[in-house]
Amino acid sequence: MIYMDNAATTRPYEEALSTFEKVNRTYYFNTASIHQEGRNADKLLEASRKQILNLLDLEGFECVFTSGATESNNIAIQSVLKKKKQFGRTVLMSELEHPSVLNTVEAMKAEGFDVKYIRTTADGQVNLESLKELLDGDVVFVTVMAVNNITGAIQPVAEIADLLKDYPKVHFHVDATQAAGKIKMNFSGVDTLSLSAHKFHGLKGAGALLAKQVKSLDPVYYGGGHEFNIRSGTVNLGAIAAMAKALRISVQDMEKNHERISGYSEHLRKAVTGLPSIHLQPGGVPHIVNISFEGAQGEVIVNALGARDIMVSTTSACASKLASLNETLMAMNNKAAVVKGSIRISYSNFTTDEEADMLIEALKGVHKEIGGVLK
Ligand code: PLP
Repeated sequence: MIYMDNAATTRPYEEALSTFEKVNRTYYFNTASIHQEGRNADKLLEASRKQILNLLDLEGFECVFTSGATESNNIAIQSVLKKKKQFGRTVLMSELEHPSVLNTVEAMKAEGFDVKYIRTTADGQVNLESLKELLDGDVVFVTVMAVNNITGAIQPVAEIADLLKDYPKVHFHVDATQAAGKIKMNFSGVDTLSLSAHKFHGLKGAGALLAKQVKSLDPVYYGGGHEFNIRSGTVNLGAIAAMAKALRISVQDMEKNHERISGYSEHLRKAVTGLPSIHLQPGGVPHIVNISFEGAQGEVIVNALGARDIMVSTTSACASKLASLNETLMAMNNKAAVVKGSIRISYSNFTTDEEADMLIEALKGVHKEIGGVLK
């Protein structure tokens, strides 16, 4: 099997799996217990926290462990907006956001917030001119992802942070789920960041909310006060330690993997350029390539590759079972037929040269096979 759906989730590193197992065998204690073993477990928790902050160069931030980016996004948005209500009611959000941001922000309309969308460039980036037009004294929250999960487009996070310096009451939240462990970005002007371990070869069920002023955040649900009183509940220490390990390996090997994966995506782009009815979306990180077969259904391409034992996805795993057209591709002004025929290929640190070549051959084969339906 050739796995090319790594933007949905990655295979855990062996080191992450063995850390998880070892911690659950030897440090299975509750980090909140005050006996010696509990304190030992807590030391490991604190060491993991420090390591993650160091690896991401997040000086001045705190690391709140969560179950993943969905929870981190929910906590950041709901908690901050609860506090900000008295200062303004407008939330600015890019059109590109993952449902865990989009639906949470949309739900805040019921709390009296007004949501405005920042437009997108044809390259799949947040349009800075549109952001400038929307910024006014009522804006209290801006949310923009770091790397788009559909096209890989890298968003101008540092430029946005710079713009927001003139708006001190604005909280800037960044969903960095598809960036962490893949590229180095400057997050110094950001207030909160989300990530999920399973996107960088850690385990599912662990993630983090990285926050500059964690003490000013209120809980959105209640319990024993774990994790700075923001995310109560006994922590998943094994998965957290495995996340720190996975991030360390991903960051250490980042340059060499980036170069290798860039080779794969460039090769793929060259190989399909010029084939009739094929549209390549502009990219960003080399890990994600979005290709459309105009006139076909994305599902048909996914299934044809599946028959060749290659796993890719239509748009994003969360949305791929829904019939609606992908919002990111629509926001980039693609024709409906291009959006319908789109598939997402996503490489990981485990992808081999041979797999990358086999994918290209398979795509050419599928293109030939379904030539009759293409426009
Ligand atoms: N944000 C982005 C950009 C994502 O790609 C994903 C997962 O696909 C998430 C958030 C949600 O991550 P999780 O499902 O681990 O909570």
